[in-house]
Amino acid sequence: MRNSQVQIPTSREQCLALDAADPLAPFRTQYTLPANGVYLDGNSLGVLPVRTPEIVRRTVEEEWGQDLITSWNKHGWTELPFVLGDRIAPLIGAGPAEVVVCDSVSVNLFKVLTAALRLRSGRRTVLGERDSFPTDLYIAEGVTGLFEGARSVLLPSLDSADDLDAHLDEGVAAVVLSQVDYRTGRLLDMGAITAKVHAAGALMIWDLCHSAGALPIELTTHQVDFAVGCTYKYLNAGPCAPSFLYAAPRHHAAVEQPLTGWFGHAAPFAFESGYRPAEGIGQFLTSFPPLLALAGLRATLEIWEDVDLAQLRAKSLALTGLFIEQCADLEVVTPRQEKLRGSQVAIRHQDGFPVVQALIERGVIGDFRAPDLMRFGFTPLYVSYTEVWDAAQALREVLASGEWQAERFATRGAVT
Ligand SMILES: *Cc1c(COP(=O)(O)O)cnc(C)c1O
Repeated sequence: MRNSQVQIPTSREQCLALDAADPLAPFRTQYTLPANGVYLDGNSLGVLPVRTPEIVRRTVEEEWGQDLITSWNKHGWTELPFVLGDRIAPLIGAGPAEVVVCDSVSVNLFKVLTAALRLRSGRRTVLGERDSFPTDLYIAEGVTGLFEGARSVLLPSLDSADDLDAHLDEGVAAVVLSQVDYRTGRLLDMGAITAKVHAAGALMIWDLCHSAGALPIELTTHQVDFAVGCTYKYLNAGPCAPSFLYAAPRHHAAVEQPLTGWFGHAAPFAFESGYRPAEGIGQFLTSFPPLLALAGLRATLEIWEDVDLAQLRAKSLALTGLFIEQCADLEVVTPRQEKLRGSQVAIRHQDGFPVVQALIERGVIGDFRAPDLMRFGFTPLYVSYTEVWDAAQALREVLASGEWQAERFATRGAVT
């Protein structure tokens, strides 16, 4: 990949100049941001778009409150999982009628992984990475438990596609990987890995939680079989908004997903007693997704219609590059090479938890992932170069002053 278009600044003045010339800077006004802070946790929970409360209010007061049951037809509720899936499609390099919005990432992974094992019925191994986001591993364990002789094999973190060679034998039905590692921010080569998995006769499932809305993704180009991802991280749909599910159209006719609920039926309102799956991507629905959460997704996806993903990627690399450069004397575990980097930076520090708490008190909001990683997410639509400069400065001051050692920073809540 070529270098980012934006050079890494070496002074705060240069950061101010880059902000003034930033083509994505106007997007910042679309978001509700902390008054006196820098939000570097958009990879965990994206911020509230300014337009969202009004769209949610209209959905509650007008669609639900006034139009009641007629809203299913009058306001197109039944179509929303498809309409919103089609709006996510260009962000992940998919086509129309290939993406649907429903359920959570875990539930959707359960559906596509079970479907993949059924499509490769002579094979019984699922490959994944040991350090993946745990819910993906738990689901793989649950799914393989349903097939006699099936097992999931967990590999050490991959550095490149070649690391799969020794493991891709004729028993492998599917490989499940996160494109961007939730802890380290390492970006995998989707094209090279998917091609290898296919050459071995297996199916490829990508988890896009930390890449959707963070960088351009090319599912069709790379002939990916299935993908799942979040809408509440880089896409800003709101807390626990439903996830999305992609299935390549070549699988739509043969696939069988296991959660056969009424909204995946060919005719939900015929109320037949036997299950007949809908054709196409609709067969992946189970129930109707939470309507108010869909309103949050609808609102944020209006903003994404105007985003140039090449500009997004260039700024993301510049922001992460700047932070890495400014923290060069710390143990940065995120790859320095641009083609290996998502949109977050992780720094290893044995006292990472209290250090992050001390930073939050200074208004720099990042998070901590056990056992020892401080994590900072860089969302190009609302984070500025100057903020990144100031955040790195604050981190260095917190460490140099030792202020993180104060007792009040040691207490952990249920969510870190
Ligand atoms: C955030 C995240 C999830 C979330 O799973 P849910 O079932 O939607 O709660 C799953 N996988 C990864 C890699 C994530 O980062």
